[in-house]
Amino acid sequence: MAKGRVLVTGASGYIAGYVVKALLADGWAVSGTIRSLARADAVRASLGVSAADLPLSAADLTHDAGWAEAVAGCDFVQHIASPLPSGTARTDDDLIVPARDGALRVVAVAQAAGVRRVVMTSSVAAMYYGMTGASRTYSEADWSDLSSPATNAYAKSKTIAERAARDWVAAHGGMMEYCTINPALVLGPVLGSDFSGSLAVVTRMLNGELPGLPRIGFGICDVRDIAAAHVAAMTLPGMAGERFLCSGEYLWLADVAAILKSRLADAAKRVPTMRLPDFLVRLSALFDAEVRLVMPELGRERIGDARHARDRLGWNPRPAAETIVDTARSLIAAGLVKR
Ligand code: NAP
Repeated sequence: MAKGRVLVTGASGYIAGYVVKALLADGWAVSGTIRSLARADAVRASLGVSAADLPLSAADLTHDAGWAEAVAGCDFVQHIASPLPSGTARTDDDLIVPARDGALRVVAVAQAAGVRRVVMTSSVAAMYYGMTGASRTYSEADWSDLSSPATNAYAKSKTIAERAARDWVAAHGGMMEYCTINPALVLGPVLGSDFSGSLAVVTRMLNGELPGLPRIGFGICDVRDIAAAHVAAMTLPGMAGERFLCSGEYLWLADVAAILKSRLADAAKRVPTMRLPDFLVRLSALFDAEVRLVMPELGRERIGDARHARDRLGWNPRPAAETIVDTARSLIAAGLVKR
């Protein structure tokens, strides 16, 4: 018999797929939401699960329809759905409104249905933005500064959604608990050809789409370790109000390129080796909107202190090199890299 039922929102997503698999492996019954049931078979196929393993219902973060039905009978909710930055977002509100209103919808229906705990996927984007100084170590005490021009639309959406859901649960949650997992850049093997934008950095390097290596870096975490953190935050006692920064090693793009070159030989032939000096990147930002977007990250080392996740969740992320190599190998196997 299953341990209980868990609703995973946005079951079509990259991280959600791994959370579904981790929950099923841990003996939970799992239901999911997706935006359109037309994708139900494809979502199940990419996860290798049956309709009985993963009942799916339709719900959109921007509408009430479907949420109450989806959560009925569930003991826990993993709220993972949220819009990622994409070419289709025209204004900040295109990201903020679905993230915030969707999170509020989910905690409200969960509370009404008697759910015991909601684990929400927030992000280091709700912690790292708008601070001064080139480099800094961040922790759960940090919140991105919404008044800073350096806080981009995605960071605003994650900050506002996390705060709104926390405040709502504090005021109206009753016995229901709420906590967040705040991952850094999530990489790892792809489950199908539809995967998170976070993998673009490795895909673009392998496909030779980066002219060189600007001084930009990320805290890296593995999607399999992030799924494990979600399961631990759902099952361990005493998680009410908790917030877990989950980041592995910080790597510069030059470090990622060096790992790919040394471990993948010919498959990494298009990965650039030339480091781009900051002045050149600043110059090209004058002409290139995509480069302008990453300018606030230039030379800025954001170290995420994951001690709290290690201590409370027993989180033990694998080495970043292993994650990068597994990401690249899976992209190649899925035919997503030019030969
Ligand atoms: P993803 O694969 O793009 O997943 C995003 C999910 O959200 C998809 O299932 C998407 O549905 C769903 N979604 C977006 N807008 C929606 C809407 N209006 N209504 C209903 N569902 C909607 O990206 P991911 O990387 O797995 O991200 C999952 C979560 O992790 C997000 O909350 C993200 O902010 C957070 N996160 C990601 C990273 C990272 O590096 N990947 C790091 C930190 C935090 P469709 O499939 O229909 O588009």
